[in-house]
Amino acid sequence: MGSDGKPEAFHQTPAIVGLTGGIGSGKSTVVRFFGELGVHWVDADDVAREVVEPGTTGLAKIAEHFGEDILTDEGTLDRAQLRQIVFANPDERTWLESLLHPMIREELIRQLKPENYALPYVLLVSPLLLETDQHNLVSKVIVVDVPVETQIERTMARDANERDQVERIIAAQMPRERRLEKADAIIDNDRPLDDVERQVRELHEKFLVDFG
Ligand code: ADP
Repeated sequence: MGSDGKPEAFHQTPAIVGLTGGIGSGKSTVVRFFGELGVHWVDADDVAREVVEPGTTGLAKIAEHFGEDILTDEGTLDRAQLRQIVFANPDERTWLESLLHPMIREELIRQLKPENYALPYVLLVSPLLLETDQHNLVSKVIVVDVPVETQIERTMARDANERDQVERIIAAQMPRERRLEKADAIIDNDRPLDDVERQVRELHEKFLVDFG
């Protein structure tokens, strides 16, 4: 305790633990349990959207490069159109990635340093943690794991997607076995939620010791 009776924020730079898993594996569900234990977390998908919100340098540079037509009437990024352009043109994809990846990385690093934070670790939630250089930011990797069939069923139910659409997305992601090979810890999410919550609590206690 500090002299003012508050817990001392002595973990100036908490360890960063990555949390990943395929689409519909349960990342958002699992990270909510960590959040209830007071763990600070940042979602890489949220940050990827934030860096191209209206008023950002990111969006201004995209509009400068692709023309104002890349914006919707409301002035937001027309993602569907941008996806089409970069899908058809690898050079444009490279241009876009070299603009956005450093911005996303910088913003992730900024948001992963909460003020007045007393726990010794924070979480970076990212579906592409292992596929991108984001894995260089983390000292440990948690994989949220479910069998592919569970992944498909839960994603279809959540997003009202067709099976073949979900299967295509899964095929484009890292295969389950390779992802598990890279895990320092695994959360089995093919379980009732109260069991998943128990796994999260146990891992949290372990991290408090490991990083404390
Ligand atoms: P992700 O963030 O990895 O895409 P979500 O956390 O959104 O995955 O989970 C996918 C869907 O499955 C959601 O609708 C969620 O409510 C549901 N879900 C997640 N974990 C469980 C579980 N253990 N039991 C039942 N449903 C679950």
